[in-house]
Amino acid sequence: MVANLTDNIIENINFIDLQAQQSHIRDNIELSLKKVLDHGMYVNGPEVKEFELELAKFTGAKHVLSCANGTDALSLVLLAKDIKAGDAVFVPSFTFAASAEVIALCGATPIFVDVCPDSFNISISSLKEAINIATQHNLLSKAIIAVDLFGLPADYENLSKIAQEHNLWILADAAQSLGGGISNKKVGTFGLATSTSFFPAKPLGCYGDGGCIFTNDDKLAEDLDCLKSHGQLKSNRSEYVKIGTNSRLDSFQAAILLEKLKVFPAELIHRQKVADCYATYLDSSIRVIKLDDKNKVTSTWAQYTIVLPEHIDRDLLASKLKQEYNIPTAIYYAKPLHRQQAYLEFAKLSPNLPITNKLSKHVLSLPMDGYINLDTVKYISESINMLIRSF
Ligand SMILES: *Cc1c(COP(=O)(O)O)cnc(C)c1O
Repeated sequence: MVANLTDNIIENINFIDLQAQQSHIRDNIELSLKKVLDHGMYVNGPEVKEFELELAKFTGAKHVLSCANGTDALSLVLLAKDIKAGDAVFVPSFTFAASAEVIALCGATPIFVDVCPDSFNISISSLKEAINIATQHNLLSKAIIAVDLFGLPADYENLSKIAQEHNLWILADAAQSLGGGISNKKVGTFGLATSTSFFPAKPLGCYGDGGCIFTNDDKLAEDLDCLKSHGQLKSNRSEYVKIGTNSRLDSFQAAILLEKLKVFPAELIHRQKVADCYATYLDSSIRVIKLDDKNKVTSTWAQYTIVLPEHIDRDLLASKLKQEYNIPTAIYYAKPLHRQQAYLEFAKLSPNLPITNKLSKHVLSLPMDGYINLDTVKYISESINMLIRSF
């Protein structure tokens, strides 16, 4: 079946094909951008409010506050909740640096937590260990930054139980998972607040930087709104009641996002088909993420990340995939945060992270977007299978 694959190399497979989406909606994006050029309200234009309202409908969140990027979205919540030196905030080590840097930048202590092997998301048992460690070091345990890695929502039901027991609040880092959900609840409604990113490569991306915070908490929403515009009082703009910052989503980016949001549901359906296709064709020695159907969990498949068998030389596989089959891949994340130079002092305070250490050695992310052809996905799967059998 795959014997002549090498004779039929598929040209131009992108790791994420942003161009395919753009061709699909280019005319509408141009019209939307033209409106901004015409009205000239480049900052806080009507598109920004409109996009926030559409996102509120899309997620079911009560308050939606757009901001400059996904990192600011995290930071603003920590700032609003007055996270500071002496506080401990729990975060997975197997994530993008932004999830943890915001904690350290507040002067607080990030405590790295291990992840589950079958979801890549924060492990409840490791979290319990981490909370004990924080107490032993006289740190005040304040919050959990739960990351929905690669688009899969974390185990919010069990996280909420622990959070309640220990008087912690949850910030959902949904930079990769906007559009996912659990049962009838959408990402944006879990925890005290949710942050997301519209970086171009995220499932819902703009053409630059952008971010957003979701919350159902009225007081927090009011504080965030104030903080993201320099701490200025909404009702009297000559009054500054907090030390804030400047974090806004540009009108141009909101205009682009309004168009992208229209096609997003169809893209999410296609992403699920792509994931199903990989799961069907990839060799059974390769571990793939399985969704929890019982709890009706849906993922955005921001990344389609597989776990290779331990004997496979990942770098060799990736280079052969590229050179012999023209298939691009990426490694998220090759070196977890607790082993990064900048975070070594915090690593001393974390429990053992065996799953994180293991995953970082064996994961590989495959091409995924809302437009990739299913024949291409089959070709990628069969090429991987063939190489793996030859190792
Ligand atoms: C991308 C990302 C962020 C940061 O988003 P930016 O918009 O790039 O600042 C935060 N957390 C995770 C898990 C991410 O993947």
